[in-house]
Amino acid sequence: MRIDKFLSNMGYGSRKEVKILLKSKAVEVNGVTVRDAKVHVDETKDEVSVGGEKVEYAEFIYLLMNKPPGFISATEDKYDETVIDLLGPEEQQYEPFPVGRLDKDTEGLLLLTNDGKLAHELLSPKKHVDKRYFAKIDGLVTAEDGEAFKRGVMLDDGYVTKPAQLEILISAAQSEIELTITEGKFHQVKRMFQSVGKEVVYLKRLSMGALELDPSLELGEYRHLTEEELDSLK
Ligand code: URA
Repeated sequence: MRIDKFLSNMGYGSRKEVKILLKSKAVEVNGVTVRDAKVHVDETKDEVSVGGEKVEYAEFIYLLMNKPPGFISATEDKYDETVIDLLGPEEQQYEPFPVGRLDKDTEGLLLLTNDGKLAHELLSPKKHVDKRYFAKIDGLVTAEDGEAFKRGVMLDDGYVTKPAQLEILISAAQSEIELTITEGKFHQVKRMFQSVGKEVVYLKRLSMGALELDPSLELGEYRHLTEEELDSLK
């Protein structure tokens, strides 16, 4: 990989900014000053330093996205744009994929990574990772619905859901709720409300395990996880 690309990937700024860094003679590869952005490094073997500090090569990428509606949670799709299309080329180089799926019309927290082991652990049914959603519901959501969700409801395919926690924020002709589930069945939140005769008209994921949606992220925006966030998932 070219040194300018490597340093840019490691968070040392844009390719243009890295070129300025190189010109300032701050970069060494195996103890030798490098000023040429075209020099290639083997990111797993060569020792790169900036201003005397060793650059640790990061193999994995972890991104927190506020997924906008209209995008598919997949790496490719025949007809629609995917959440990967929202990433810049620097992030796409790592070949991240979404951890679990949000429906095309669902918004909110989506974790993207190329760390297959972590993704597998987060999605494993055995782990029961909590997922909390905010939803607007067409219909009056009642305490009885909360009781039903606590017991488990039967979905249209006969599957009975694990206990889920419903918090009613507004009970009206159009209700607003938060629902925490520990599973990730296809269209689960929508189908749970369908089982009690109501329709989800807006859905946003607020959290996944200890990871919370960052309110400063606009729809379609993303950022790298902080070290604390990453630790909280492991
Ligand atoms: N449940 C749904 O129905 N849709 C989602 O996108 C996520 C959970």
